[in-house]
Amino acid sequence: MTENTKRSAELYERAEKVIPGGVTANIKSMEPHPIFMEKAQGSKLYDVDQNEYIDYLLSYGALILGHGNNHVYEAVMNQMREAGTTIFGTPHELETIMAEKLISLYPGIEMVRFTNSGLEATLLALRTARAFTGKPKIAKFEGHYHGGYDQVLLSVNHDHENAGEADQPNAVPESLGLPDYYQQNTVVLPFNDLESTEKLLRTHAEELSAIIMEPVQAGFIPAEQGFIKGLRDLTEELGILLIVDEVKTGFRLSLGGAQAIYGIEPDLTALGKVLGGGFPVGTLGGKAEIMGVLSPCRGTGFMTPGGEADKKPKPLFHSGTYNGHPTVLAAGLATIEILESSGVMEGLFSTTNLLRNELEELYERYDIPMQTIGMGSIFNILLTKETIMNDRDMKKANTPLRKALDYELLNQGIYTKPLNRYSLSTAHTEEDLRNTVRAHEESIQKVVVHQQS
Ligand code: PLP
Repeated sequence: MTENTKRSAELYERAEKVIPGGVTANIKSMEPHPIFMEKAQGSKLYDVDQNEYIDYLLSYGALILGHGNNHVYEAVMNQMREAGTTIFGTPHELETIMAEKLISLYPGIEMVRFTNSGLEATLLALRTARAFTGKPKIAKFEGHYHGGYDQVLLSVNHDHENAGEADQPNAVPESLGLPDYYQQNTVVLPFNDLESTEKLLRTHAEELSAIIMEPVQAGFIPAEQGFIKGLRDLTEELGILLIVDEVKTGFRLSLGGAQAIYGIEPDLTALGKVLGGGFPVGTLGGKAEIMGVLSPCRGTGFMTPGGEADKKPKPLFHSGTYNGHPTVLAAGLATIEILESSGVMEGLFSTTNLLRNELEELYERYDIPMQTIGMGSIFNILLTKETIMNDRDMKKANTPLRKALDYELLNQGIYTKPLNRYSLSTAHTEEDLRNTVRAHEESIQKVVVHQQS
């Protein structure tokens, strides 16, 4: 890779002097240096050394229509032109239009609030759950990511010395600077293990306000139907709210996310990524009864100047200068409009399945144990035939070989961050798929076959 990316190396050296690690999000870091991109179009990325890549990262799944979709661009430009501004700082109709759209698509959503990122949406979900139930703790699953803040930055990876037993994982901090408070107030649960999850929930039910989960862990390990259904029944029985974090899965498994496919109605839903059409966005949606705690009409909060300190309960505080940004909502609505057009989602899923099948056949031909796992328009390549049900199972996969192949794939013009999942877009063509399979074959030849001979 270093031979082809000399300009990236130079830019990285410069960035490192002024930006810690040379990256503005730790996930963008990579050895020996990240690849700096200059342009993009459709399914393609072009780096500063003029290399072309078929993009399967798609900004961590956000760009379901690929790069530079015309309809989205026009919607954004029209919105700004007609409004005469980028943002009003007041309510506007697009907020209600988007809210109505989400309510029509997501079974668990009756009301919504907008945020600027997925992180903010899950953070607001947890605060809402605590406010509504009056209980202090939350539960999350080992291996699940909900954004980079203190309460949920625990046990996102399996690979910790002190991870604890599989059926009763410890809450292990994933960052420096996390106060012990969150470890003590977060129960970590084993994904896809209903029996052990039930035991832990019954032990902590009195203190638990909510369980937050990714319905498809890391976007590619699906919850078993019986597991998610059992979890919904248990949470209802125990008075614990179920928060389904659909930041990755929203619009990528179906227009109504994972919840529409699994046939469950969560109490609260977090959305992000695709919903912003490539702009920063997040949404918290949920049952009207629960979302009602956010309403300032309940009583006056400290943000209501001159408000009387009335006897009504205070609302839950939620604010943000850019919440419900009209330009972002215009991009999101234009994206949904395309996804709702006849055959678009089906086409995206069949492209994804075609690629999965062809890759599986290829690895089979080379006798490399491999499977693709995922749902809808996202999958990952795992170099093992063993069943993968949760994060700890990932140890069964041949990660060093996958990493070596991913680096060679970068040389062959296939972009995803090494070890990352594959997200597809409506811009990916059959030719892209053929080139991707060819690039995998070249990489296998170089990394596996030549090294063995
Ligand atoms: N929740 C899930 C499931 C995610 O995948 C992510 C981001 O990858 C987030 C929350 C955080 O979203 P954002 O990066 O927009 O803050």
